Amino acid sequence: MEVVEPLLFFMDTIMTSTTTQKHVIIASPCYNEEEGIEAFIRAIQIEAGKLEAAGMRVTILIIDDGSTDRVLEILHEHADKDSRIQVAAFSRNFGHQAAVAAAIEIADGDALIILDADLQHPPEHISEMVELWESGYDIVSMVRKTTASQSILKTFTSRLFYKIFNNLSETRVPDGAADFFLLSQDAHNALKAMPEYHHFWRGMISWIGFRRCYIEFSSLERFIWKLKKKKKKMLRMAFDG
Ligand code: UDP
Ligand code: MG
Repeated sequence: MEVVEPLLFFMDTIMTSTTTQKHVIIASPCYNEEEGIEAFIRAIQIEAGKLEAAGMRVTILIIDDGSTDRVLEILHEHADKDSRIQVAAFSRNFGHQAAVAAAIEIADGDALIILDADLQHPPEHISEMVELWESGYDIVSMVRKTTASQSILKTFTSRLFYKIFNNLSETRVPDGAADFFLLSQDAHNALKAMPEYHHFWRGMISWIGFRRCYIEFSSLERFIWKLKKKKKKMLRMAFDG
């Protein structure tokens, strides 16, 4: 008995520490980001290190949205070296909102952070987002202040879209809203339960309620600028919204 008791005590402390350790999942949609992905992964690994130092477990989940460049290969190389990195890949390009949907479907942690893989959503905000979640918020929404590279046309069409959207719907989505946010497990489960076929995440997040706060961020210029049939995709997303 004398031998077993300390052993049981030891096992009990391990079980307690693993079950109370918070698991944060950082997830990104990724499409043809070959040139910038190394810098992005490095930045996320630094942020993951900070959360781990604070006693959390971190998973980095990348959804490859049917990329045609070498990014998937690079991601797998990183996943082989860093067990925190998980990669899921679509069979073809389904679009940004579908890739975010996959992350929301797959992720199963205490908190889920979604951000773009092109460094336009600065990863250095992650610690602050997690702190706000720990202080009791279910949703931390990032709102874009200025976009260094944004054209007058994009600023105008974006403002117009949110004006029309906010007039037509009871849900308020701030101009500058982005698919850059943190969800608690409760908010995450509420989103998962929504039957929407066409996803407009920043609108759905405004609709579900919960304790929510906002952080302003400055969107950096795209790390690598590529022309990717952008206008057609933006229009489709606006109609889905
Ligand atoms: N993306 C995606 N599928 C697409 C287009 C983009 O998964 O068909 C990803 C892209 O790699 C990035 C994020 O979604 O991580 C936002 O895309 P983008 O930078 O083109 O949009 P913007 O910055 O104009 O919002
Ligand atoms: Mg971008």
